[in-house]
Amino acid sequence: MDLGIKGRRALVCASSKGLGRGCAEALAEAGVDLVLNARGAEALETTAEAIRAAHGVSVTAVAADITSEDGRAAVLAKAGDLDILVNNAGGPPPGLWSDWGREDFIAALDANMLTPIALMTALMPKMIDRGWGRVVNITSQSVKAPIPQLGLSNAARTGLTGYVAGTARQVAPFGVIVNNLLPGIHATDRADALDGGVSQKEGISINQARANRAATIPARRYGTAEEFGAMCAFLCSERAGFIVGQNILLDGGGTNATI
Ligand code: NAP
Repeated sequence: MDLGIKGRRALVCASSKGLGRGCAEALAEAGVDLVLNARGAEALETTAEAIRAAHGVSVTAVAADITSEDGRAAVLAKAGDLDILVNNAGGPPPGLWSDWGREDFIAALDANMLTPIALMTALMPKMIDRGWGRVVNITSQSVKAPIPQLGLSNAARTGLTGYVAGTARQVAPFGVIVNNLLPGIHATDRADALDGGVSQKEGISINQARANRAATIPARRYGTAEEFGAMCAFLCSERAGFIVGQNILLDGGGTNATI
């Protein structure tokens, strides 16, 4: 299928590894020129070079913390005009409800709610002027079904989801299409960190922790960044213009719900 976005320009935040990289690769395969971002410059440049070599698209790499005001300013200054925005950042740490104080919540809200909102606020006006834009926010399965130990994530991502629900409908008349992608467990460094925590807490190997988690998923495995990226590229495509303000789960059936 031709996604109809060859020659468009996309910013993919937090994209040197994992799900962000999966989105970047799939957009590049569709002929989209990229601005990539992560904090670590070395891994970011390695990813940028690999994508240039594989897909022949233009890739600008900006090493910065996307959750800081300075970081966002640096990325936006280098990015230029953009047709597509993929919002992503690291997730907050796990814990118990009583672990967290105001500062922890402010940090989580900054990273996983206010950062994507700031980038949408900065970039959507020009998309509206041009009559075309796509925004995909990487959130989490925890928006539909809470993950008890990820209270900070549950809170921040649900806040973003509420904002998107209204905003997507305000910008759709101008050709700007905003949706959220909700990952369940995917095989990335983040999953390794979560499984490492379980392995320590339960005194089992990391492989056993992984196998135990996979056994709870109807697909009996973790998702891949490639599968995730393919859905992201579709939502950023010409074909997705009638999908507005949706929350799309990619979780191998892990969320036990009818709708
Ligand atoms: P990952 O494999 O750990 O990759 C994270 C990527 O984001 C790296 O490129 C990292 O590079 C970059 N990054 C992290 N913090 C950043 C920041 N402040 N500014 C710029 N770049 C940053 O994580 P992932 O599994 O792809 O997860 C992506 C998001 O999906 C996270 O919010 C995660 O909580 C959420 N999620 C993941 C899963 C899963 O199973 N993987 C499930 C549900 C939700 P640097 O470290 O160099 O900055």
